[in-house]
Amino acid sequence: MKLKVARPTAMSVAGLYKSYRKGKLEVPVLKGVDLSVDEGSFTAIVGQSGSGKSTLLHLMGTLDAPDAGEINYRDQRIDHLPSKQLEKLRNTEFGLIFQFYHLLPELTTLENVLVPRMVQDGFFKYLRNKKQYTQRATELLELVGLTHRLTHKPSELSGGEMQRTAIARSLISNPSILLADEPTGNLDAENGAEVMETLHRLREQENLTLLMVTHDSELANKADNVIHLVNGVVAD
Ligand code: ADP
Ligand code: MG
Repeated sequence: MKLKVARPTAMSVAGLYKSYRKGKLEVPVLKGVDLSVDEGSFTAIVGQSGSGKSTLLHLMGTLDAPDAGEINYRDQRIDHLPSKQLEKLRNTEFGLIFQFYHLLPELTTLENVLVPRMVQDGFFKYLRNKKQYTQRATELLELVGLTHRLTHKPSELSGGEMQRTAIARSLISNPSILLADEPTGNLDAENGAEVMETLHRLREQENLTLLMVTHDSELANKADNVIHLVNGVVAD
């Protein structure tokens, strides 16, 4: 008999609630979400458009706060942390990828990957560490297959290349968990497949946990665990 080795939990949420306010109307989106994500796993979150997938991922990425419930990262409760600590956690442990790439149009591919370091460090610290950061950025761009595009601007890249730049940028601070919101949602099949292949390769090489929102059931089928969001809760 083959024993399945239990992996530690990277992230979990319990009893998560979130509503949005539309004028006087309160629109409930998450109504008690419970889930957990194993360290090193690939977990897919699926659900109809408007079911709250992005809301959930944003809460887990500490970009927004829940109305009620708990979010834990490696056995530490994080939803109650003061904003300075949250920012540090987000900058060091989480890599965030979105459907749109949010690259700065005036910067080259290499510079775009360095942006989080510039922002986090401030001018002088960044200058001191620039050589080391540039080395890492170059290595990451090699891992996503963009060595030949280091000095290109976003307008000179394909959609897939822009997303692979955004993926390299999400890894510049060496996070442990990647939170990706429909990373292939804006790409054609070929570019989407390339982006997925890149994510899988990086997950292996960089030992990452991948939590990905997708409405593509074929992509979700490759996940270790698929979480269905229905009517604001996780369906069985
Ligand atoms: P999904 O990613 O599954 O498509 P979202 O999490 O983006 O769903 O949205 C869930 C619901 O919450 C939708 O009905 C959406 O209109 C609403 N919603 C999302 N963000 C906001 C917001 N900032 N203000 C008001 N309503 C929002
Ligand atoms: Mg969404």
